Amino acid sequence: MQVLKFGGTSVGSAERMHSLVQLVVNEQPKIVVLSAMSGTTNALVEIASALYGKDSVKATELIKKLEEKYLIEVKKLYRKESSLNKGTQLIQYHFDYLRAFTLDMFTANEEKAILAQGELLSTAMFHFYLEETGVTSVLLPALNFMRIDENEEPDLAYIETHIKAELAKHPDAKLFITQGYICRNSFGEIDNLKRGGSDYTASLIGAAIRSVEVQIWTDIDGMHNNDPRIVNKTHPIHELSFDEAAELAYFGAKILHPTCILPAQKRNIPVRLLNTMQPEARGTIITSGIAGSGIKAVAAKDGITAINIKSGRMLLAYGFLRSVFEVFERHKTPIDMITTSEVAVSLTIDNAAHLSSIIKELETFGVVEIDTDQTIICIVGDFGGEKKGYANKVFDALKEIPIRMISYGGSAHNISVLVEGSLKKDALQALNKGLFNYN
Ligand code: ADP
Ligand code: ASP
Ligand code: MG
Repeated sequence: MQVLKFGGTSVGSAERMHSLVQLVVNEQPKIVVLSAMSGTTNALVEIASALYGKDSVKATELIKKLEEKYLIEVKKLYRKESSLNKGTQLIQYHFDYLRAFTLDMFTANEEKAILAQGELLSTAMFHFYLEETGVTSVLLPALNFMRIDENEEPDLAYIETHIKAELAKHPDAKLFITQGYICRNSFGEIDNLKRGGSDYTASLIGAAIRSVEVQIWTDIDGMHNNDPRIVNKTHPIHELSFDEAAELAYFGAKILHPTCILPAQKRNIPVRLLNTMQPEARGTIITSGIAGSGIKAVAAKDGITAINIKSGRMLLAYGFLRSVFEVFERHKTPIDMITTSEVAVSLTIDNAAHLSSIIKELETFGVVEIDTDQTIICIVGDFGGEKKGYANKVFDALKEIPIRMISYGGSAHNISVLVEGSLKKDALQALNKGLFNYN
């Protein structure tokens, strides 16, 4: 069994949905994971925030605007009257559901239910389209098997048992369609795997059913050496190791959800990145193998907060760092980078939700300074073997950029530097020139 995930642009219009058929219909048994049509989740976020702000007039307007878009696409999607009726009823059902929220109190759980509508719509629309073209497929409800635990981590054991039970209901089926992104939480409520989470769904399903491969189909021909939204010239990297891809995804390469490599890596399932607009392109294959040495790619993660703690008590004190880490653990806040000197420790966090409580606790150790709006620039490759010259190349490329922190040696795959957020573009361009010879 294979798992194929198609992202927002790959299902973003009737025309795109039509062209998916040739990619999913063949002898190979598969589970197809779909995102919401592009723009939908952003629109649902806006609707939910209008409802939070008790602006039901605005929410109603936004719902109507999105519904109109769907009614236009559905007319282009289907050729038969009966399918068009089914599609129109489906849209009516989901948009009536959204409208119902404008009439009552609005809570955080309801926001998650709103965000789930995009994937529920796209999968049902595509399933009806396959039906119209005479292709048999089974619509698998992700809410019946995809689950996160009380720490908001995927519950792989639960997912495995429940997806197998769902699949067993259809022993002769070869083509399954399911929703990316959406799941239930430990209370059984509708939840999600965070923005971009459909990649994570695909990798979790791949791990759960031990699929032969997970394919992530998107709008670009694989992982590129730099962020194509920011620098002009980039090239695809044909092979990456799990570790390298995981670092790039975690440190900002938007093509992959930050943690989506981990489940596939755990069960050694190759992940292939492919382009729906150019299906013949080689893309990127991500495996456990060593995929050549040297610097391969750079990525950037924004919105980072740097925290510096200066403390006389650190001098020769064992147990100091543990006490600092415990503060972050208590607030369930992961640390990304860390550097130490004899009298100070600097570290970075991505999630600043508990920052004020964290600062309060850290102030019991010493003087705390905060820098917000920082960016981690992550340089990824295989720096094992001779280990010579890589750091030099990176710092030579960045010689005009002020650097706030450096992390090197944590793994053989990553050199990270922290810069002011406003310097991200300059830093990525400088690395594109210095490391990849692009002007
Ligand atoms: P999907 O909707 O299919 O999930 P995304 O928009 O989430 O697609 O991811 C694909 C986009 O990621 C590309 O269009 C590209 O602009 C962006 N991207 C950022 N960094 C990289 C990178 N290093 N390699 C390839 N794409 C990248
Ligand atoms: N639709 C969701 C989002 O826009 C999930 C995804 O596309 O992966 O974030
Ligand atoms: Mg994505």
